[in-house]
Order: sequence, then structure tokens, then C-alpha cells
Amino acid sequence: MSAVNDLIELSTIPSQSTARCMNPECLEMCTFDPNVAGQKPLFCSAKCRVAFGAKRRKLVRQLEALDEVQRTTSMTQKEARRVAKVQSYLRWLLERYPSDRA
Ligand SMILES: [Zn+2]
Repeated sequence: MSAVNDLIELSTIPSQSTARCMNPECLEMCTFDPNVAGQKPLFCSAKCRVAFGAKRRKLVRQLEALDEVQRTTSMTQKEARRVAKVQSYLRWLLERYPSDRA
């Protein structure tokens, strides 16, 4: 048996598999069907795809705005700590939007 056949044997694709919709605010499932051609669904609906993209762009914009404020504004220590906490929170949220897929 060839190495390719060994690998194929080890990574058998089920006839159908499901995973959660990529929108972190959605609990719906998406189905991976290896027999259906084209792009595999990451979102349960166009509505979720659009919501994912909009939320991700909003988080990125907010982080960029805070980075700009941090670079260009003189802040008290208390303000700087508050900005750092908000940046940390936004980065934590952004982890749930791993790439610009929408
Ligand atoms: Zn969804």
C-alpha cells in the first residue's frame, strides 16, 4: 500500500459531518458534504455570514481607533489602564472572529 493510500485510510471523511456556524452568536449547524461541489459552508445562512463580517470589521475598527488614541494622546495612568483593559477585551472578542471570511 502506498503512503497516499495510508494517509487516505487514516483520514477517512464521513459521508456527512456537521459543525457549528462560524458566527459566534449563532448555535445553528453547518453540514460538510464531501460529495457536494464548491465552497463548503462556514455559516448557516447569508445573514450569519454578513453579521460575522460586520462584527469583525467593527472590532478591528475599534481596536485601531484605540491604538491611535494610545499613540497620539497623552493620558493619565488611570486612562491608560482603562484603554489597555478595553483593548484586551476587544482582542478577546476578536479571537472569536479568526479571519475575514465574510
Ligand atoms: Zn449561523
